[in-house]
Amino acid sequence: MKGVLIRDCCIGGRGGYNVYCLDGKIARVEQESTAPPSGTEVIDANGGSLFPGFIDSHCHPFEHGWLKRSVDLRGAANMTAVRLRVVAGVQRAKPGEWISGMGWDQEGFPGKAMPTRADIDDVSPDNPVVLSRVCGHVALLNSRGIDVLGFADRTGVEYERDEKGELTGIVKERAIEEVYEKLPRSSERSAADLQSVEAEAGRLGLTTIHCIVSPEGFREELGALAFLGASGSLSLRYRVYVPPEALDYIDATGIGRKLSGPNLRINGVKIYADGSLGARTAALREPYNDDPSNVGILRYTDDQLSNLVENVDSKGMQAIVHAIGDRAVEQAADALGRIAGANNPRRHRIEHASLLPGDLRSKMARHSIRAAVQPLFITSDTWALDRLGEERMRDLYPLRSMLAEGIVASGSSDSPIESMSPILGMWAAMTRGGAESNEELSFVQALSLYTNNASTNGLDSPEGLSEGARADLTLLDSDPSDMHPALLRKVGVLATIVDGTVVHSYGSG
Ligand SMILES: [Zn+2]
Repeated sequence: MKGVLIRDCCIGGRGGYNVYCLDGKIARVEQESTAPPSGTEVIDANGGSLFPGFIDSHCHPFEHGWLKRSVDLRGAANMTAVRLRVVAGVQRAKPGEWISGMGWDQEGFPGKAMPTRADIDDVSPDNPVVLSRVCGHVALLNSRGIDVLGFADRTGVEYERDEKGELTGIVKERAIEEVYEKLPRSSERSAADLQSVEAEAGRLGLTTIHCIVSPEGFREELGALAFLGASGSLSLRYRVYVPPEALDYIDATGIGRKLSGPNLRINGVKIYADGSLGARTAALREPYNDDPSNVGILRYTDDQLSNLVENVDSKGMQAIVHAIGDRAVEQAADALGRIAGANNPRRHRIEHASLLPGDLRSKMARHSIRAAVQPLFITSDTWALDRLGEERMRDLYPLRSMLAEGIVASGSSDSPIESMSPILGMWAAMTRGGAESNEELSFVQALSLYTNNASTNGLDSPEGLSEGARADLTLLDSDPSDMHPALLRKVGVLATIVDGTVVHSYGSG
């Protein structure tokens, strides 16, 4: 294996270092320059800053890849824009083929009304259509889609009906999972999706991603990971989280054996306790400020969730529980607290932990329950004040308090919901988009979200830049530790190195 020399980089704010990597490890860190062995790949840092490789501790690369080739509805300013993009999708599709889209947000539409199937029926009379809201917890079906799925007689909160009792086309939570289960999939397509996202992640400076596979597509997605891993085609490290439904499948097929190495490994199980704030399906202790009849949706009873996480723990796996509203976080912290004891040796986590008042922070800290947070949500959730009202806003994404009170929090994108850029994530954690707050992080804290904390939250050891450390490295074009936080988002990634191999370098595309 050929070595890699990073010449003239900055480490911990001090310049002039040369770092030589060989066989997946950092072999030398020195200030004098010795000539590298011939055949060494040389990267000129020109004073750029070197860090342990950045980690995204919660993302959905398969959904992200799917989004890249489906109808992208992000930024659509009204239903006319949505309709135009669906028309383009219909023109590309074969007769009767499903058209899927993602990313609409009625909060940006005039009047903010939820769309209905009547808004899209005429543009796609023959092709079934499913369009997920930006949060992924609400989706719009057209009438053809409702027919194909046989949803006409369904009842329950997951199937919205109007005053006349007609389905509006809006479906939620489990109903959406069922829709996606029925869409055609293949391992080949999942593999192509993953590879397109992986290339993007490498360019953004990521060396490891905590990859959540979907309840609807886990067979194809695990198949794609196993295939790409076995053929040496993956360039990043993967820590994989599967839905509870996948456990029997993994036992029965033995696919877990192909997903158990240092580069590619199943870590645990992802469980959803509630929905999202944007869609008002996150489970709250007190009703929504802008919908006083609604406290959101808990997916499980307390006992059901406890049993689920106990089962995961008994298999020696890590449980990670999606909980956004304070009621859901409470339920998750109680369930995980029971199996975590004081030290939480399996590093069970709560994903998002968005609305996190002091009593829940103490509960998490008491049981060493970890958290995976998404700093970019702070700048994107422009409707949060409407949903929660003034008083609860103080406890929304309280990142600095979490760290100060001893919660190991790791940074993530929840991609495709947010950009996978860890630099943008750090920028959001440090600036909170300029909003008035006491919860801004320092650069060192923001960096820890995407390095050490993410590493240990993914069952790995803390990283470092000393000789003998794993050569997973991110090289930035300048030193973010001494710049104004607002400028951080301009910093570029010069190179990304995984296991001693350059997976991205500036100029090489
Ligand atoms: Zn997620």
